[in-house]
Amino acid sequence: MTSESGIAARTSGHAVRRTTSLLINVSTLLQEPIGSLREYEIDAARGAGLASAVSGGVRLLRTDQSILATASLETTVSDLCGGCLQELELPLEMSFDEEFWPDSDAALGVAIEPPPERAGFAVIDGQIDLSEAVRQYVEMGRPMSPRCGEDCPGLQNDEPQEAPIDDRWSALAALKLEIEQD
Ligand SMILES: [Zn+2]
Repeated sequence: MTSESGIAARTSGHAVRRTTSLLINVSTLLQEPIGSLREYEIDAARGAGLASAVSGGVRLLRTDQSILATASLETTVSDLCGGCLQELELPLEMSFDEEFWPDSDAALGVAIEPPPERAGFAVIDGQIDLSEAVRQYVEMGRPMSPRCGEDCPGLQNDEPQEAPIDDRWSALAALKLEIEQD
Protein backbone atom coordinates (compact mmCIF):
# COMPACT_ATOMS: atom_id res chain seq x y z
CA MET A 1 0.00 0.00 0.00
CA THR A 2 2.92 2.34 0.49
CA SER A 3 5.56 2.78 -2.12
CA GLU A 4 8.78 3.20 -0.21
CA SER A 5 10.82 4.71 -2.98
CA GLY A 6 8.11 7.19 -3.90
CA ILE A 7 7.83 8.58 -0.38
CA ALA A 8 11.46 9.60 -0.23
CA ALA A 9 11.32 13.35 0.06
CA ARG A 10 12.64 15.51 -2.70
CA THR A 11 14.83 18.00 -1.03
CA SER A 12 15.81 20.20 -3.92
CA GLY A 13 14.09 23.14 -5.42
CA HIS A 14 11.54 24.09 -2.83
CA ALA A 15 11.37 27.45 -1.22
CA VAL A 16 9.88 28.32 2.13
CA ARG A 17 6.58 30.08 1.68
CA ARG A 18 5.41 32.55 4.25
CA THR A 19 1.83 32.60 5.37
CA THR A 20 -0.27 34.14 8.10
CA SER A 21 -2.96 31.48 7.85
CA LEU A 22 -3.49 27.94 9.11
CA LEU A 23 -5.48 27.26 5.95
CA ILE A 24 -3.15 25.99 3.25
CA ASN A 25 -4.09 25.25 -0.32
CA VAL A 26 -2.80 21.83 -1.35
CA SER A 27 -4.67 21.35 -4.62
CA THR A 28 -1.48 21.80 -6.65
CA LEU A 29 0.57 19.65 -4.29
CA LEU A 30 -1.98 16.84 -4.71
CA GLN A 31 -1.36 16.91 -8.47
CA GLU A 32 2.36 16.54 -7.96
CA PRO A 33 4.30 13.28 -7.69
CA ILE A 34 4.51 11.38 -4.43
CA GLY A 35 7.34 12.83 -2.37
CA SER A 36 6.73 16.41 -3.41
CA LEU A 37 7.24 18.90 -0.61
CA ARG A 38 6.05 22.30 0.43
CA GLU A 39 7.55 24.25 3.28
CA TYR A 40 5.75 27.03 5.05
CA GLU A 41 6.68 29.53 7.66
CA ILE A 42 3.58 30.46 9.58
CA ASP A 43 3.58 33.89 11.12
CA ALA A 44 1.04 34.79 13.83
CA ALA A 45 -1.81 32.85 12.27
CA ARG A 46 -5.26 32.80 13.81
CA GLY A 47 -7.42 29.71 13.60
CA ALA A 48 -10.90 28.50 14.44
CA GLY A 49 -11.12 27.55 18.12
CA LEU A 50 -7.70 29.00 18.91
CA ALA A 51 -7.39 31.78 21.47
CA SER A 52 -3.87 32.82 20.51
CA ALA A 53 -1.82 33.32 17.39
CA VAL A 54 0.27 30.42 16.10
CA SER A 55 3.73 30.66 14.55
CA GLY A 56 6.30 28.19 13.35
CA GLY A 57 7.16 25.88 10.48
CA VAL A 58 5.13 23.31 8.59
CA ARG A 59 6.32 20.90 5.95
CA LEU A 60 3.75 19.27 3.70
CA LEU A 61 4.63 16.00 2.00
CA ARG A 62 2.60 14.41 -0.74
CA THR A 63 2.38 10.72 0.19
CA ASP A 64 0.75 8.03 -1.91
CA GLN A 65 -2.65 8.66 -0.31
CA SER A 66 -2.52 11.83 1.71
CA ILE A 67 -0.80 15.04 2.63
CA LEU A 68 1.49 14.54 5.62
CA ALA A 69 1.90 17.73 7.62
CA THR A 70 4.97 17.88 9.87
CA ALA A 71 4.61 20.88 12.10
CA SER A 72 6.72 22.59 14.72
CA LEU A 73 4.68 25.42 16.13
CA GLU A 74 4.42 27.72 19.09
CA THR A 75 1.55 29.58 20.63
CA THR A 76 0.44 30.77 24.06
CA VAL A 77 -2.31 29.47 26.31
CA SER A 78 -4.23 31.39 28.91
CA ASP A 79 -4.75 29.69 32.23
CA LEU A 80 -5.06 30.36 35.93
CA CYS A 81 -2.14 29.90 38.29
CA GLY A 82 -2.92 26.90 40.50
CA GLY A 83 -1.44 28.73 43.48
CA CYS A 84 -2.81 32.26 43.40
CA LEU A 85 -5.49 32.00 40.69
CA GLN A 86 -4.00 34.86 38.71
CA GLU A 87 -4.39 34.72 34.95
CA LEU A 88 -1.33 33.47 33.12
CA GLU A 89 -0.12 33.51 29.55
CA LEU A 90 2.04 30.44 29.04
CA PRO A 91 4.18 29.74 25.99
CA LEU A 92 3.45 26.37 24.44
CA GLU A 93 5.47 24.53 21.81
CA MET A 94 4.18 21.59 19.86
CA SER A 95 5.47 19.26 17.19
CA PHE A 96 3.29 16.83 15.31
CA ASP A 97 2.81 14.78 12.20
CA GLU A 98 -0.74 14.58 10.93
CA GLU A 99 -2.11 13.22 7.70
CA PHE A 100 -4.78 15.02 5.75
CA TRP A 101 -6.88 12.90 3.46
CA PRO A 102 -8.26 14.02 0.15
CA ASP A 103 -11.80 12.87 -0.56
CA SER A 104 -10.65 11.42 -3.82
CA ASP A 105 -7.29 10.60 -5.23
CA ALA A 106 -6.82 12.89 -8.17
CA ALA A 107 -4.23 10.65 -9.75
CA LEU A 108 -6.04 7.35 -9.31
CA GLY A 109 -9.60 8.60 -9.38
CA VAL A 110 -10.37 6.41 -6.38
CA ALA A 111 -12.14 7.61 -3.27
CA ILE A 112 -9.99 7.11 -0.19
CA GLU A 113 -11.60 6.42 3.14
CA PRO A 114 -9.43 7.83 5.91
CA PRO A 115 -9.04 5.68 9.00
CA PRO A 116 -11.91 6.46 11.40
CA GLU A 117 -9.65 8.08 14.00
CA ARG A 118 -8.37 10.46 11.36
CA ALA A 119 -11.72 11.47 9.98
CA GLY A 120 -11.29 14.99 11.36
CA PHE A 121 -8.38 15.77 9.09
CA ALA A 122 -9.57 16.10 5.56
CA VAL A 123 -8.61 18.07 2.52
CA ILE A 124 -11.64 20.25 1.91
CA ASP A 125 -12.00 22.26 -1.27
CA GLY A 126 -8.33 21.72 -1.97
CA GLN A 127 -7.30 23.12 1.40
CA ILE A 128 -6.11 21.74 4.69
CA ASP A 129 -6.86 23.53 7.93
CA LEU A 130 -4.27 23.05 10.67
CA SER A 131 -6.50 24.76 13.26
CA GLU A 132 -8.15 21.63 14.61
CA ALA A 133 -4.85 19.74 14.88
CA VAL A 134 -3.29 22.72 16.68
CA ARG A 135 -6.29 22.98 18.99
CA GLN A 136 -5.96 19.31 19.95
CA TYR A 137 -2.23 19.59 20.61
CA VAL A 138 -2.75 22.75 22.65
CA GLU A 139 -5.23 20.88 24.84
CA MET A 140 -2.82 17.95 25.20
CA GLY A 141 0.14 20.22 25.92
CA ARG A 142 -1.65 22.49 28.38
CA PRO A 143 0.07 22.18 31.77
CA MET A 144 -2.03 20.39 34.39
CA SER A 145 -1.30 22.77 37.25
CA PRO A 146 0.37 25.89 35.94
CA ARG A 147 2.18 28.24 38.32
CA CYS A 148 2.88 31.91 37.81
CA GLY A 149 6.47 31.48 38.97
CA GLU A 150 8.84 30.48 41.73
CA ASP A 151 7.65 33.31 43.93
CA CYS A 152 3.92 32.61 43.59
CA PRO A 153 2.33 34.45 46.51
CA GLY A 154 -0.30 31.74 46.96
CA LEU A 155 -3.89 32.53 47.83
CA GLN A 156 -4.27 35.97 49.36
CA ASN A 157 -6.19 36.39 52.61
CA ASP A 158 -9.82 37.31 52.27
CA GLU A 159 -9.46 40.05 54.91
CA PRO A 160 -10.75 43.33 53.62
CA GLN A 161 -8.06 45.86 52.86
CA GLU A 162 -7.50 48.44 55.57
CA ALA A 163 -9.65 51.44 54.95
CA PRO A 164 -7.60 54.35 53.68
CA ILE A 165 -6.74 56.69 56.52
CA ASP A 166 -8.56 59.97 56.44
CA ASP A 167 -6.18 62.88 55.84
CA ARG A 168 -7.11 64.50 59.12
CA TRP A 169 -6.27 61.29 60.96
CA SER A 170 -2.99 60.88 59.14
CA ALA A 171 -2.06 64.42 60.14
CA LEU A 172 -2.90 63.52 63.72
CA ALA A 173 -0.97 60.29 63.45
CA ALA A 174 2.08 62.19 62.18
CA LEU A 175 1.76 64.63 65.06
CA LYS A 176 1.47 61.74 67.51
CA LEU A 177 4.58 60.20 66.03
CA GLU A 178 6.48 63.46 66.42
CA ILE A 179 5.42 63.75 70.05
CA GLU A 180 6.47 60.21 70.77
CA GLN A 181 9.85 60.84 69.20
CA ASP A 182 10.49 63.92 71.31
ZN1 LIG B 1 0.59 32.16 41.34
